[in-house]
Amino acid sequence: MAIPAQLTGSAPGRVNLIGEHTDYNGGFALPLAIPARTTASLRVRDDGLVVAESTAPGTEPARFTVDSSPGDVTGWAAYVAGVFWALRDAGHDIPGADVSIHSTVPSGAGLSSSHALECAVAVTLNELHGLGLDRTELALLVQRAENHYVGAPTGAMDQMASLYGQDGHVILFDARAMTAEPVPCDLAGAGLSLVVVDTRVHHEHVDGGYGARRASCEEAAALLGVETLREVQDTPLAEVLGKLDDDVMVRRVRHVLTENARVLDTVALLRAGRAGEIGPLLTASHASMRDDYEITVAEIDVAVDAALAAGALGARMTGGGFGGSVIALTATADAERVGAAVSSAFDQHGYASPSVFTVRPAAGAGIEESQ
Ligand code: ADP
Ligand code: MG
Repeated sequence: MAIPAQLTGSAPGRVNLIGEHTDYNGGFALPLAIPARTTASLRVRDDGLVVAESTAPGTEPARFTVDSSPGDVTGWAAYVAGVFWALRDAGHDIPGADVSIHSTVPSGAGLSSSHALECAVAVTLNELHGLGLDRTELALLVQRAENHYVGAPTGAMDQMASLYGQDGHVILFDARAMTAEPVPCDLAGAGLSLVVVDTRVHHEHVDGGYGARRASCEEAAALLGVETLREVQDTPLAEVLGKLDDDVMVRRVRHVLTENARVLDTVALLRAGRAGEIGPLLTASHASMRDDYEITVAEIDVAVDAALAAGALGARMTGGGFGGSVIALTATADAERVGAAVSSAFDQHGYASPSVFTVRPAAGAGIEESQ
């Protein structure tokens, strides 16, 4: 009897250096793949079933048919089922599999553990069945899985970062062109550290305010007579905002357009070898998310303020918002002190202790070597 085909692939979580809630507006973002990864080991089954298990605490093994439809599988396994569904819906007649998941990406921390999981399954299925899909095609399929199967209306930035990440580079993602361009970002060489504070404040994109923000942007684009807000990026800001009556909508649009500009300014500084000067752009991004887009929460703002007070060069929430993680750019010599200052501020506010660690730009998704 033939031994069933099996393969292991993995995909990283991501931190978004800057460019938040811009992807679904056709704009720019600047994420990096992080060293924490999700591994998916797959073994082909010939009985039309997918049997999935994860080492993540609180996950039960799941069994479903390979031709499940959105709504059939819920909970964590929906992220696995969604990838099978999206591939089959695109005409790839793939068989079932045993799927084992192991991850070091913290879940629900704004580091995109959901996309790390989906991308790990997607790259492995692509290779296992010789589908020949490129990384952009995989990103779009994963987006369909997350939007239509899981029910989270997220853009494509997270998948593009996880799939296109490169050691020592951030990825300039242009959502309109669907391109991912590596930009050198040697933080260590510049004497810099990127500190991540996972506030452990829970957020769920599925039922959070993410969809409402997205709807507001789409409504604004319709009022402006354009397909996405990207179309008005080069129009003077005051002129664009002057065409909108609703104060909330004005602030939402202002965030998106100024955030796109901050991404491009950050890229220009990185390309000029001036990584140490991007801090104020990160901090301005945070103020925009807090005041205009209104997606931060008290714990997040405390973390940013404490990091800045302790000497961080810049700090901002990263990820979709309503909790999750904060990043702080520091001189490497200050990284530990900044992390400790945030922990101590949390203690003073009576918040649960955050998890503090540093990240560096790491490699994107791939098949594990030695197979
Ligand atoms: P984020 O992507 O920012 O971590 P999400 O709420 O989008 O947050 O996704 C987290 C969800 O993804 C978890 O609740 C779980 O359902 C699923 N998930 C992520 N990583 C794993 C894993 N290793 N094993 C099982 N499920 C996971
Ligand atoms: Mg997610």
